[in-house]
Amino acid sequence: MDVKVVNQTTHEMQQLTQTVERLERMVTIGQMLNSTLDLSQLLETIIRTAAELVGTQAASILLVDERTGELFFAASTGSSREELRQIKVPIVGSIAGTIYQTGEPVIVEDVSGDSRHYTGVDQSISFQTRSLLGVPLLVRTRCIGVLEAVNKLDGGKFSEDDIRTLSTMASHSAIAIENARLVASLREANHRLSELDRLKTNFISIASHELRTPLMIVQGFASFLREQASGDMTSDLDMVLRGASKLQAIIDQMTNLNFLESGLSELKQEKFVVQELIGEMNEEWQPLAAAKQQSLRISMPSTPILIRGDRGKIHLALSNLLNNAVKFTPENGHIELHVILHTGRVEIAVVDDGIGIPKDELTRIFERFYQVEDHLTRHHGGLGLGLCIAKEVIEQHGGRIWAESNEGQGSRFRTILPTLFEHPQEA
Ligand code: ADP
Repeated sequence: MDVKVVNQTTHEMQQLTQTVERLERMVTIGQMLNSTLDLSQLLETIIRTAAELVGTQAASILLVDERTGELFFAASTGSSREELRQIKVPIVGSIAGTIYQTGEPVIVEDVSGDSRHYTGVDQSISFQTRSLLGVPLLVRTRCIGVLEAVNKLDGGKFSEDDIRTLSTMASHSAIAIENARLVASLREANHRLSELDRLKTNFISIASHELRTPLMIVQGFASFLREQASGDMTSDLDMVLRGASKLQAIIDQMTNLNFLESGLSELKQEKFVVQELIGEMNEEWQPLAAAKQQSLRISMPSTPILIRGDRGKIHLALSNLLNNAVKFTPENGHIELHVILHTGRVEIAVVDDGIGIPKDELTRIFERFYQVEDHLTRHHGGLGLGLCIAKEVIEQHGGRIWAESNEGQGSRFRTILPTLFEHPQEA
């Protein structure tokens, strides 16, 4: 065979092999770019690979600063990367700026003869740019920056193949950069929100705790004085008690919120007698019911009923039921709390003759923030958390809670909790 033809074929084979190698590399890079969301690691990979694939001394990524509209070096190979980071490149009067504005690749074989070349960079880092291939980083039609490969090795020239390779890299890279940036900004926003949330939870926790004791003193003395009072003093003291009960409801909501966010998982395991807890609650709630001229009647079996669980949390759950009963029952209404012993279980039912609940809302009211009344027209306060908390607590204790009601005909909230010992069914 003719020697010339053999050489020609060998050369073509070599070129083909190189192209296949580049393509294989591109596929691997594409997969790699899609698999990392760490922005700085991503940029490093892009520039290292770009310089290697196109065969240049260095490579850089310039991204646009959305605030100032200038380009800055987000990453670069070589030893001066820290200095480069400080340098801003103007959009008008630079090759990168031209690529950014036109969205087209640019090859400059000799930058010294190109008036667009921004010499500020080379001066600052004592680098000499001779030749350059730059391509836009496009996310759909939006340009987010420029990928540059600088100084073709061995004094060679950039080829059409180099443009294609760098442009393909740039299109993969732009999407990966955009995704990584989105994830980074989401992470940052999330971090800020968690910090704010932590501060809010701390504040609510401290505030509700600090308000509770003085409020109990006010309630205690006001009810005592109300019992002794006569004449105008009676209605004045009723007003004080009503105000205090509103304050109590607000503190309860704060406790609920705090509770929901901090410690549902940690349940204390205390043995306690149900009747003792209900007795305490009776004392707490009598003045609040009285402030609305409501009667609160308690019925309990005499046999002490022992349960194991988190007394504080069960107290909170039942308080939420009583709070609703008082809130959703008009003045002069009737509230009852029944403790009923079943085999191995105790039922605690809170019954009222208040506004009642529509049948189709009886399950949804246990959802977080759910309220039957429209928030724009509602007459009752609250955050819609009380029942959700009560349900969580009761279920964590292996119990059950549900509501029975008809609209306008009062409600019955039934709670079942396992008892510690099997009690014989009471007659
Ligand atoms: P909140 O009372 O703060 O609104 P809850 O989770 O305790 O939140 O209750 C959710 C909703 O269920 C209330 O907004 C109310 O519409 C309804 N509800 C709860 N208890 C009663 C009740 N005893 N009588 C009538 N409606 C009630």
